[in-house]
Amino acid sequence: MTKDILVGDELPDWVGAKEFYQKYDPKEVIGRGVSSVVRRCVHRHTGQELAVKIIEITAEKMTAEQLEEVKSATLKEIQVLNMVKGHSSIITLIDSYESTTFIFLVFDLMRRGELFDYLTEKVTLSEKETRSLMRALLEAVQYLHSRNIVHRDLKPENILLDDQGLLKLSDFGFSVQLPPGQKLRELCGTPGYLAPEILKCSMDETHPGYGQEVDLWACGVILYTLLAGSPPFWHRKQMLMLRMIMEGRYQFSSPDWDDRSDTVRDLVLILSVLACIRMYGRYRRLRPLTREVLARDPYSVRGIRRLIDGCAFRIYGHWVKKGEQQNRAALFQNTAKIMLLGLEELEA
Ligand code: ADP
Ligand code: MG
Repeated sequence: MTKDILVGDELPDWVGAKEFYQKYDPKEVIGRGVSSVVRRCVHRHTGQELAVKIIEITAEKMTAEQLEEVKSATLKEIQVLNMVKGHSSIITLIDSYESTTFIFLVFDLMRRGELFDYLTEKVTLSEKETRSLMRALLEAVQYLHSRNIVHRDLKPENILLDDQGLLKLSDFGFSVQLPPGQKLRELCGTPGYLAPEILKCSMDETHPGYGQEVDLWACGVILYTLLAGSPPFWHRKQMLMLRMIMEGRYQFSSPDWDDRSDTVRDLVLILSVLACIRMYGRYRRLRPLTREVLARDPYSVRGIRRLIDGCAFRIYGHWVKKGEQQNRAALFQNTAKIMLLGLEELEA
């Protein structure tokens, strides 16, 4: 590993680190990721407590290519963080520093840590609490998607809670900006939260790829997990788990789901319906039906129409008929907005 690869344009390699240490005093470790360590840190002048994610980019454990990959991924992460800061449910990047061996990202400190740990402590959450967390999460996701950003790693470990218990979405390490109409093919994320199309396109090179909907799938997995206390797709053999995902096979099993309301089951169902539509669409495309036809007028395809009608009536039956703004077509939009509407149903 030569220094030149990592050194910034004109600054000597240690400047970024020196600036960081001059301004902040790093304290104990509060979290770890694959190639990062997160520490509480204190702003030396103001005494403000913050969190610093320290990404190590030294040659000891990695090849030159891996190092370059980690570095460019982190720079991309910084770019996305700068694009999304300002939303109340998204973590704020306060500062960043770069040296040859480390990159430092300074964030607001989320004192209550990961939603994952909170759930482990509580085992399951009430529908009421789930509703407000999911609302905040979906609003954050809607905000990202409106800026053409796909998160790609939504999971309770990457959802943090501040000292008032308010949710902040974090870890934009896999996030990318995806212009409308473009698709992704890269297999990335965390196994239990992967959408079927991510898996499928990695196995089939004729597959058209995936888009921002994969975040909605992960939101559904999170919603299920918060209420049931365990994830919908899990098997100790990972291949079998992946197969469950690709088939959209999960259950509202007893006793986890015994006292859950129909509305919340329906909300989880929305996501699998959306997934079914996508999968069925692809199946239909093997016949003369084209993707364009599906995208333009999915309701004209008989099988899909029947599926939608049945599900739409179950989910939205009481207001599909009355509203002009809200109708079955909304089911095709497949955005965070739909999930938010579902949450409104829960609130009603
Ligand atoms: P990675 O990309 O390596 O997974 P994350 O950004 O997810 O890194 O951070 C790893 C862990 O560090 C998180 O899961 C969380 O436990 C902790 N963490 C990250 N940012 C903060 C923060 N701002 N406040 C408190 N803890 C944090
Ligand atoms: Mg993480």
